[in-house]
Amino acid sequence: MNNGKLIVFSAPSGSGKTTIVKHLLEQKELHLDFSISATSREKRGDEAHGKDYYFLSAAEFQAKIAANEFVEYEEVYKDNYYGTLKTELERIWALGKHVIFDIDVIGGLNIKKQFPNKTLAVFVSPPSVEELERRLRFRQTETDEKIQMRLAKAEREIAESNKFDVILKNYDLEIAKNDAYTLVHDYLKMVE
Ligand code: 5GP
Repeated sequence: MNNGKLIVFSAPSGSGKTTIVKHLLEQKELHLDFSISATSREKRGDEAHGKDYYFLSAAEFQAKIAANEFVEYEEVYKDNYYGTLKTELERIWALGKHVIFDIDVIGGLNIKKQFPNKTLAVFVSPPSVEELERRLRFRQTETDEKIQMRLAKAEREIAESNKFDVILKNYDLEIAKNDAYTLVHDYLKMVE
């Protein structure tokens, strides 16, 4: 391993963390690369294998659990597994880059626990659960039942937010993007 760092962005889904992470990845001077998670959930919209996720069957995912190939993994929703492969961190560190994660709250805290001295864990906070519901509905990619599942999870996640290094409020996306840049930039400089 080299001196690559880990930048974790966790939040309830719909809070804008994916947009913030994409913005940070565009800032080449930060030398970040995205940790592509493995998942057994179905593809949504125009997602691509090897870009947004490594899409695996539940059986393939379980085989990798048995072979101890994950840094962390979780059954985020019933029968939907998500996890970070060890090979992903090695791939990114070998490029001389820092790893940035778009990962759920338990996964994010798990990464922080395993690499406490080289992880910045950021919780992206939505304005309210009502606003989160509005954003999820606007996305129109999921059934009502799935949206309800995500909202219930969101309330549990918000309760864990104080375990993160920083809480980043996303009330205005442009401000949140700038705040995220400053946080990450300063952290990488500090621990160089
Ligand atoms: P989605 O289905 O919306 O892409 O993701 C559902 C949730 O799983 C999100 O909160 C997302 O951040 C989380 N997630 C994505 N990848 C991982 C991972 O590797 N590990 C864990 N624990 N959660 C993940």
